[in-house]
Amino acid sequence: MTSVALGIDLGGTNCRGGLVDSSGCLLFRAEMETGAGVDFFPRFESFCHKVLTQATAAGLMLTHIGLGVPGVVDGLGRILGAPNLPALHGVDLRQRLHGRFGFSVHVGNDVDAIAAGEARCGAGRGIDDFLVIALGTGVGGGLVLRRQVWRGSIASTAEIGHVIVVDGGRLGGCGHRGCLETYASGPGLAHSIELARLGGEASHFKFPAIVTGPIVAAAAHAGDPVALAAFAEAGRHLGTVIASVLNLLGLSTVIFAGSGVANLDLMRSTILRSCSDALFPGTPLPQLLPAALGDDAGIIGAALGAPGDDGLL
Ligand SMILES: [Zn+2]
Repeated sequence: MTSVALGIDLGGTNCRGGLVDSSGCLLFRAEMETGAGVDFFPRFESFCHKVLTQATAAGLMLTHIGLGVPGVVDGLGRILGAPNLPALHGVDLRQRLHGRFGFSVHVGNDVDAIAAGEARCGAGRGIDDFLVIALGTGVGGGLVLRRQVWRGSIASTAEIGHVIVVDGGRLGGCGHRGCLETYASGPGLAHSIELARLGGEASHFKFPAIVTGPIVAAAAHAGDPVALAAFAEAGRHLGTVIASVLNLLGLSTVIFAGSGVANLDLMRSTILRSCSDALFPGTPLPQLLPAALGDDAGIIGAALGAPGDDGLL
């Protein structure tokens, strides 16, 4: 009988789950809108039940459940903070799901799960040490060192989006000013457009009233100077932060994940230029790779962990 794990990538917008065998092959996949209402937990548990039913129907043996969540998770799998999914704040999801379904449950950070998935069977396969930067509604980070996801001694690790890049800069959702996320996330790029419009900068692109990251990307691909400047600013800050991480850890590779990975080529040269300006002399520039597993990385990583993690996130 084939053994599988249920991997769940619980995002602020979408929840994706699937059955993953020990080689990282995704045998069944399902998705639901996460939603923020009071009915979140009943819907989430019914989603898990639906995927588990598929395992039973296919004669697969379920070994455990692994979850990646968008927040700060302690060593016991308790969620200490989840700004993009407040329903999870303070919840012991591991205990709750174990009580409901009876399987062993492992809970970790969502970008750590993406890093684990990419390490196991994605762009990070064969690379011992690398940084993952997830670009989307926020900017998340995951760090793989010696084939293991690095968790540090405290709950929060590799929160690269909250490295401060501008002293007294834009106010972020975290309450601090000048975090990388406020420039390089989708809302950060949209904010750059708003500021440029307020400053009367000329734009060829007809921006709608509400601007989003994908709209800024479309404008940049159409050659709009304001949108290109927004990506240049994001790329410059990303490059500086990447250089600091490289100066500290000596990594050779950065893997970009999340919906913003589609915009990597708009920023690649700016990232490398500002990275070069801030790297210790003689340090090689990193290779910048797009994630290979797309939306499935978080499911596979949550189910199996990184190769050096003994099969668990
Ligand atoms: Zn911050």
